[in-house]
Amino acid sequence: TRKKLVAGNWKMNGSFDSNEALILGFLPEVDDLVDVSVFCPFPYLAQVAKLLQEQGVAHGAQDVSSKASGAYTGEVSVDMLKEFEVTQVLVGHSERRQYHAETSVAVAEKAVAALAAGITPIVCVGETLAEREAGQVEAVIASQLDPVVEHCAKFVENGAWNLVIAYEPVWAIGTGVTASPDQAQEVHAMIRNRLQAMLGTEVAQSTRILYGGSVKPGNASEIFSKVDIDGGLIGGAALSSDDFSGIIRAA
Ligand code: 13P
Repeated sequence: TRKKLVAGNWKMNGSFDSNEALILGFLPEVDDLVDVSVFCPFPYLAQVAKLLQEQGVAHGAQDVSSKASGAYTGEVSVDMLKEFEVTQVLVGHSERRQYHAETSVAVAEKAVAALAAGITPIVCVGETLAEREAGQVEAVIASQLDPVVEHCAKFVENGAWNLVIAYEPVWAIGTGVTASPDQAQEVHAMIRNRLQAMLGTEVAQSTRILYGGSVKPGNASEIFSKVDIDGGLIGGAALSSDDFSGIIRAA
């Protein structure tokens, strides 16, 4: 069985003061039954690493370069993240795909860089409302997922496959509209079937698939009860220690 993971994506929010209050606020809810992680802006990695030291909560960044070093202004490498005890990193969030024109191949290359460094990539996929209405959900998810699977398959062979997928329908992000639990489950099952077809049963059964998009304390337990939903990637509600605590309790 897969342990649930509740991951908080702070996006471009926070300050030294608010980060500390937020973390101290939800830490009492953390126990061994659920994995918890937070993804902060780069400048706060040192602060967050310190606050979470030996607290049983992982932390990470919201993006990473696929390149090791060099003339890539504004980029941050996996080795730099590791200096801040980062163990997980988001890649391919829809906001990066949308505002920074990240392609699925670029996302796959970031996932490769993370896995090669022993960092777990949380690879985000999801369709827009127009794509859903055009009946293209499966085609869009496949086009986002397949390059990642193809690039990362070599890590299955050497036992270093340690990748999480987050299904985040773009129309549910920050809108207050969640996918219904059944709608989400349908896509999660499709993702798991694709993993099975491409990488085999063991990988498909052990890979966690998170749901993201307007998860709140009030809807989390029903979403997390679905057989192929292994936790959540939380945006807005991860900025309130009460809400994030409630979601951890629901998992
Ligand atoms: P919201 O929870 O604010 O909808 O954001 C979801 C998200 O994008 C997490 O990465």
